[in-house]
Amino acid sequence: MLLFTPGPTPVLESVRQAMATATLHHRTPEFEAIFKEARENLIKLFNMPEAIMLASSGTGAMQSAMLHLCKSKALTINSGKFGERFSKIADALNIPKIELKYEWDTPVKLDDVQEALQTHPDIDAIFVQVSESAGGLRHPVEALAALAKQINPNIMIVADGITAVGVEPIDTTHIDALITGSQKALMLPPGLAMMGLSHEAIAKIDKGVDYYFNLALELKNQRQNTTAFTPATTLIMGLNAMFGEIEKAGGLDKFYANSAKRAKATQGALEAIGLTIYPTAPALSMSTVIDENANEIRKILKNKYGVNMAGGQDHLKEKIFRINQMGLIPAYESAWVVNAVELALSDLGRRAYDGSANRVFNEIYYKENE
Ligand SMILES: *Cc1c(COP(=O)(O)O)cnc(C)c1O
Repeated sequence: MLLFTPGPTPVLESVRQAMATATLHHRTPEFEAIFKEARENLIKLFNMPEAIMLASSGTGAMQSAMLHLCKSKALTINSGKFGERFSKIADALNIPKIELKYEWDTPVKLDDVQEALQTHPDIDAIFVQVSESAGGLRHPVEALAALAKQINPNIMIVADGITAVGVEPIDTTHIDALITGSQKALMLPPGLAMMGLSHEAIAKIDKGVDYYFNLALELKNQRQNTTAFTPATTLIMGLNAMFGEIEKAGGLDKFYANSAKRAKATQGALEAIGLTIYPTAPALSMSTVIDENANEIRKILKNKYGVNMAGGQDHLKEKIFRINQMGLIPAYESAWVVNAVELALSDLGRRAYDGSANRVFNEIYYKENE
């Protein structure tokens, strides 16, 4: 069965092997060397001055970023489940918030951000997804961040990049915290959250708050290649192995380029067989189709063609399906996935199978210059 859900993603055999080695004690020079390597890799990946690892799923880092970087009022951008999560975190932490809410296919409008910042000058942090996984859309985070800093140079921009980091290069010039999680583009089991930080964010963190997720305490320790509490040692060893795999496959630029090519070729193939892409600004992390038979197509793919892809949640339940593009995915797997979708349409009597999806996928993927 091909696992094509936009998180969790499959774990490569070599990475599984790296995580199957004997457990190391974390307060040792041996583990510190492993931690140092992971830290350096993450700083490069985020392209930011600092990187922190936390033993939690991605949401732990989302919560801790809000607690440390928002002191008066949050602006949350809600175009789906994960944007809504930032709003719910604000409520749970008793942080006042203004929420900009959109349909799940619609990215944030910069005019709305400008108006919110002018109406509420006490907003000191903005929380937004780079890629909102609920509908597979890409927010214009870089432009939003530049605009917000123009209006208020001290504002903090917290970007949830959980389905964007490792998918595409993100311009972090105006981003203060960029978050990711292990089970998406980095193809690891869940349980490790990672966050890149700007110098301004580090200054605002100051002495830190909270106990387990105290970012000041973590920063102090992690700069010395250790952690305040027991780290997720196994996942960090897997992370280094995964960075090794990315390097072997041609490095980060190639990793991004191949993800973009797969996303483009998949979208072209799906459109060629008459399907409709859901978001108005699709992210590269996943291909999302809105379709009255979404659920049937998903079931046929799972039961007949060996492909597991994701459906939708809430009001999009049974209305969309989402195909993962994150990670080191062989093109022939993606070509099979679009072919299987075409076969499913034929099974449903919607169109005669003629191999268009596979052909268009390969044309777009392989005609593109390397
Ligand atoms: C997966 C995901 C998360 C994190 O969820 P966890 O279950 O806490 O790891 C957050 N934001 C986005 C956009 C995601 O796709």
